[in-house]
Parts: sequence; structure tokens; C-alpha cells
Amino acid sequence: MAQDTVLEINQLKKYFPITKGFFKKKVGDVKAVDDISLNLKRGSTLAIVGESGSGKTTFAKSIMRFYDVTEGSIIFDGRDITNLTANELKKLKQEMQMVHQDPSTSLNPRKKIKDILEAPLKIHNIGDAKSREARVKELIRLVELPEEFLNRYPHSLSGGQKQRIGIARALALNPKLLLLDEPTSALDVSVQAKIITLLRDLQERLNLTYLFITHDLSLVRNFADNVAVMYLGSVVEYSDVETLYKHPQNPYTQSLLSSIPVVNENEQSMLPHKIPLDGEIPSPTKMPSGCKFHTRCPYATEKCLERPAFTKTKYNTYTSCHYAEEIDSGKVKLHV
Ligand code: SF4
Repeated sequence: MAQDTVLEINQLKKYFPITKGFFKKKVGDVKAVDDISLNLKRGSTLAIVGESGSGKTTFAKSIMRFYDVTEGSIIFDGRDITNLTANELKKLKQEMQMVHQDPSTSLNPRKKIKDILEAPLKIHNIGDAKSREARVKELIRLVELPEEFLNRYPHSLSGGQKQRIGIARALALNPKLLLLDEPTSALDVSVQAKIITLLRDLQERLNLTYLFITHDLSLVRNFADNVAVMYLGSVVEYSDVETLYKHPQNPYTQSLLSSIPVVNENEQSMLPHKIPLDGEIPSPTKMPSGCKFHTRCPYATEKCLERPAFTKTKYNTYTSCHYAEEIDSGKVKLHV
């Protein structure tokens, strides 16, 4: 593991069994995470992008070890965390924290903000009452809220303020890695921008590493360094963020980019492909064979019934598509 790599995921699989009948006989698997390998550099942001049902949240929760994984390994800061005991997992949570999607449901409505922020310190037996009080004040300042908020309850805060508290709570134990699970999707657009700015500032100040889960590619451009595009449990494209926007190689990525609303011609010209994303993502219980995207892909041919390999492109990115090169050079046309 390279020294600046904080997270290394090797061929990770998380399958949920499908059972049938009174005796719950196993008849198959939902392959929610299906053979993913990724590295995450210290101080960087990797965005995991995909539609709802693509498996991105299960992937994040598998890394956090909310689930036992089916196969593969997770190396965090040089340590294999794939098979830790409950006690070891508790310690791990100090270094790896999650910011949840909906701040309204992730904060206990019966607790004051100061108690919410102090809770992780108490759970992990960190400091005495006085030092914890000082840390709680430091945390609320870190997320740019006034100290007087500490005596309030969550219901008196706006959505953006609640998410700031969610971020402060996640920072309480000085983690190295934050998993941000759609942290702005429940917020207004103007508030989203402020939360993204705050997260960027905190990353710089605290040398944090982010795994950013989102369905919204428009948020990724100004926030992430690298992007992994997920479809039905697999990564179909991996790229640095600039190249992904200029030279998306996978038809699924191109469809996602096509669905971003553009507000001016300049933005339009930066999105080279315009292909429709029709239909619903298939049920993971009925996974298409071959290329999983073939049921919706406007370039699909019979060859796509074979699974494409995940290979390096001429742009130094990775994708799984039989026709990536031909599509990029304009040699094949849409079947629509
Ligand atoms: Fe589309 Fe075929 Fe490429 Fe899959 S392999 S993305 S179905 S062209």
C-alpha cells in the first residue's frame, strides 16, 4: 500500500441472499457490490456516482463495516479491516465516520446540540467533562455556527444548520476518513453550495479524505478529485474529474452527464455527449447478463451479452465497454 493511500479496496463483494419458502431456502443472491477495487489517496475526494439502486450506499456501508463483506479486502491506513472483532470495530469508528443524507432524521430530537456533539466523546471515553465541553465548542466553531446554538434542540435549526451539526458530530473524534452519503440531497440548492464550501475548507484545514456518495454528477465537478461511476453493483468507469467531463468513455456515464441541466452554452459545450437515459435501472434480483447496462444502452449489440473487461483508456482512465474507443472516435452511432 503506497504511503499516501488511506483506503485500498480489493475485489470487494457484498451479496445478500435471496431466500424462498418456509425453510428460507437460498435461491440466489442480490449482488449489491460486485467485485470493486479502488484506491483513495489521503486528503483527496473520491465521488461514487450512480442512480438510486446502483449499490453506492451499500458499498460505503461495507467499507464502514456496517456489514460483513462477502469477499475481498478493505485496507484502511495500512491495516486490514475486513474481519475485525466488535471491539476493534468500535476503535475503527474513531478514524472513519459517516455524514448522513438527512440531517433531520440523523439527530436525536430530544437532545440538545451540545449533548449530540459530546456523545461520541463519551462513548469512546475521551477526556473529562471540562475538556469535552471545550471540544464541543471547538466543533461548533469549526462548522461556523455560533456557540449559543449548543443549548438549542435540532427542531429549531434549519436544514443546512442541522447538516453542519451532523458534520461537526462526525468530526468529534478526529477521523481520517469521512463517508459523505448524499450530504446535500435533502437541502435547497443555495444551501448545498454552502455545505460543499464548508466541506472543502474542512478538508484543507484538517487533511481529511472524503468518499462522497451522490446521484448528482453536477455536484461532483467542483468537489471531487476522482470519480467512480457505479451501475448495478459494479464500477463501470473510473476517472479524474476533469477527464470524466471532457472524455466520458462509458455510455452510462455519458447518459448521466446528458441528464445534467445546463444553464448556458459554455456548459453545454463542456458536455460532449448527448445520449438519453431511458427506462429504470433493472432489479438487482434480475441482473442482466453480459454488460449489465445492455438493456438500456443505445449502442448495445449482440456482443454486449458478453461481459466487457474493465480496461485502461487512452485518457488514463478505466471503463468497461466493448465499444468505448469506437464511440469516442465517433465510429459507432446510437441505435435510437
Ligand atoms: Fe453499451 Fe455494450 Fe458498451 Fe455495455 S458494452 S456500455 S451495452 S456498448
